[in-house]
Amino acid sequence: MTDLFDQQHLWHPYTSMTQPLPTFKVKRAYGATIELADGRCLIDGMSSWWCAIHGYNHPELNQAVTDQLQQMSHIMFGGLTHDPAIELGKLLLQITPPSLDKIFYADSGSVAVEVALKMAVQYWTAQGQPQKTNFITPRSGYHGDTWNAMSVCDPVTGMHQIFGSSLPNRLFVPAPQTRFDEDWNPDDMAELEQALAQHQHTLAALILEPIVQGAGGMRFYHPEYLRQAKRLCEQYGLLLIFDEIATGFGRTGKLFAWEHAGVEPDIMCIGKGLTGGYMTLSATLTSKQVADTISQGEAGVFMHGPTFMANPLACAVALKSTQVLLAQDWQAKIQQIEQQLKQALTPLAQLSHVQDVRVLGAIGVVELTTPVDMQSLQQQFVQRGIWVRPFGKLVYVMPPYVISADELHYLLTQLTEVVRQMQENAA
Ligand code: PMP
Repeated sequence: MTDLFDQQHLWHPYTSMTQPLPTFKVKRAYGATIELADGRCLIDGMSSWWCAIHGYNHPELNQAVTDQLQQMSHIMFGGLTHDPAIELGKLLLQITPPSLDKIFYADSGSVAVEVALKMAVQYWTAQGQPQKTNFITPRSGYHGDTWNAMSVCDPVTGMHQIFGSSLPNRLFVPAPQTRFDEDWNPDDMAELEQALAQHQHTLAALILEPIVQGAGGMRFYHPEYLRQAKRLCEQYGLLLIFDEIATGFGRTGKLFAWEHAGVEPDIMCIGKGLTGGYMTLSATLTSKQVADTISQGEAGVFMHGPTFMANPLACAVALKSTQVLLAQDWQAKIQQIEQQLKQALTPLAQLSHVQDVRVLGAIGVVELTTPVDMQSLQQQFVQRGIWVRPFGKLVYVMPPYVISADELHYLLTQLTEVVRQMQENAA
């Protein structure tokens, strides 16, 4: 099945070039179905890493791209502007925290995070505090693979040791421990408070993924953590950055995860589901106060400007994708997915090789006691007609919202059978 050229020349994410993992060639995809080149069809449990929220080949999204293509696919954003960027911006300001007022479009999630970090540093420099350049973040986080985004990822799962001293040293505090639905334990804040008291003078911002720590461990934590984090940031003079790249656009049951706590950040990153997974686009939003401060600083400008900033095709499809989401009863749909995930996955918690099962919104996670053999598991899933890509000890799904109840039932039945068989094989 693996294509020889692909195997020999194309580097896939997080893989070796001498021992590449097998890949499956895709011919096309539509709705929640991925059709392989050999004709097999897989029900998608991954939304292509969180982004294809409306599934694939969506007629309205296709039309938005086609229409925009007739006008222009790209135009520089330096000195020029266009309706897709403007209309998308208007809509984003309606659905993101009210205090956020300025939007910087960028190319990918990682770049949105780089932009957020740079904004925080420029903000403090403009305030006459150029020593406030470092960042603090909870462990088990994930913020992207570019240099500074990587530096605030969990140092263990992000394999910081590979990069030695070339990676900037950030301050890490324990990951939030109180689970989303548990009683709040105030001890969760102790180390963060201590670290802030000690290092406030060198820290520009606290960066975190609100409510759901994604690729760093698929952990769901208590909203009170965000309220307390906000209080501490205000007390110790730090900006608060929310990375909503994975959590945005309904995935956790709220449009954005900050809503679970009602806490507004100073800077927020969005991406992934922004374009419905059609192409890469991200945005970093901030308040008027932060933007004004940066603009009134000695530099007088914000120093970033990617070539493909506000790409019109991407903005046009992002606008349509967000409109399509808002035009439907997306809460009911996510709730229905959540119910099905809970029903199918919760019984797995009884198995001795399962550490934990957790579900929030359209995210279902089965954490095993030991790391999975990804290659073998991947093969089994494909043989059973589903697309699920586990990592570490985690077998998880986050299906496109268009998935039907029957398709989701099929996906979860096959997945749970594979997980159950892992125990029989081990026994
Ligand atoms: N932040 C979070 C929370 C993410 O989940 C990701 C991607 N998994 C990123 C940032 C990086 O986004 P991208 O891969 O588009 O650079």
